Amino acid sequence: MTICNACRYCEGLCAVFPAMERRRTFSDGSLEYLANLCHSCGACYYACQYAPPHEFAINVPKVFAELRAESYARSAWPQVLAPLFRKNGLVITLAAAIAAAFFIGGFGAVHDAETLFAVHTGPGAFYRLMPHDVMVTLFGGVFLFATVAIALSIRTFWNTTGGGSVTLTDVLNAGQVAATLRYLDGNRGGCMNEDDQPNDRRRFYHHCTFYGFLLCFASTSLATILHNGLGWHAPYAWYNPVVLLGVFGGIGLLVGPVGLLRAKRRRDLNVVDAQARGMEVGFLVMLLLTSASGLLLLVLRTTSAMGVLLAFHLGVVFALFLTFPYGKFVHGFYRYAALARFAHESKLPISGTSDG
Ligand code: SF4
Ligand code: SF4
Repeated sequence: MTICNACRYCEGLCAVFPAMERRRTFSDGSLEYLANLCHSCGACYYACQYAPPHEFAINVPKVFAELRAESYARSAWPQVLAPLFRKNGLVITLAAAIAAAFFIGGFGAVHDAETLFAVHTGPGAFYRLMPHDVMVTLFGGVFLFATVAIALSIRTFWNTTGGGSVTLTDVLNAGQVAATLRYLDGNRGGCMNEDDQPNDRRRFYHHCTFYGFLLCFASTSLATILHNGLGWHAPYAWYNPVVLLGVFGGIGLLVGPVGLLRAKRRRDLNVVDAQARGMEVGFLVMLLLTSASGLLLLVLRTTSAMGVLLAFHLGVVFALFLTFPYGKFVHGFYRYAALARFAHESKLPISGTSDG
């Protein structure tokens, strides 16, 4: 960073370099902030005259990717679970397998084969296999845990990177930048790949994943409102907004993770953190399993396969929620916090910048 600060050749590429230029020294907190501001487009590596084989060996995207992974573990709550980040691919696989087995085994233990493989239709069909109250208790509990764990982690990250407060305008500005992934294009039309050419594929597939996830979340939230507010019980007709939101979200969560997995294979290994690969691939595969099992359940919900498919889908979703605070999912929150800080700092005179 000290070399970059003297060079400043990359200052137009993204938010990292203007934020860096506000600092003369770089504490651990400052570096964590800058690392999470970086979107890993790779542009500064290809632009750099001091990149390897130059003796300075400057490689901003790689160093920041490693720092980001460290910052997730350092801020994790509770700290005793921080090591999960290091073996994340394995953790996610085990959690998914155990949760799916638990739900399928549970369904098998509670119901006889005749009920499990019967055709259940009409309002409340799902709840004949798993009572609504049990579903709410299990998923409400794991959702609450994930929310608290992530909120406390972000609080630690915020304090580590300088603390202080931001305005609503800063938060909204950060939201606009995050929603469009403005800094994922390196100011050159996309991320750099192994063929040394920028393209926008990663941004497109990231949008599919992110907005697909939001639509699925909206679908689940609306279903909760319909169930508790109006007494309308799932499964719903295909034209119900709950189903439509779920279908479009599910398709986004299929297309996005598949595209990101393919884009990952084409990335230049020089600019990524090889240690984080398990975490990234594990998360994308979990999203893929969630959407694929959900869409399959929708298609086959009036057949005798519904019971096993429902158990599998619930198991995968449960594992996904459980591992949310200790995997790639948290990157969105850390980056959003860094963008909000950047929006705030950008309005201040240089001397007003906090150095966490
Ligand atoms: S990455 Fe290289 S070219 Fe860019 S500012 Fe740093 S030293 Fe200069
Ligand atoms: S990799 Fe891209 S986002 Fe990260 S610092 Fe370099 S230009 Fe900025």
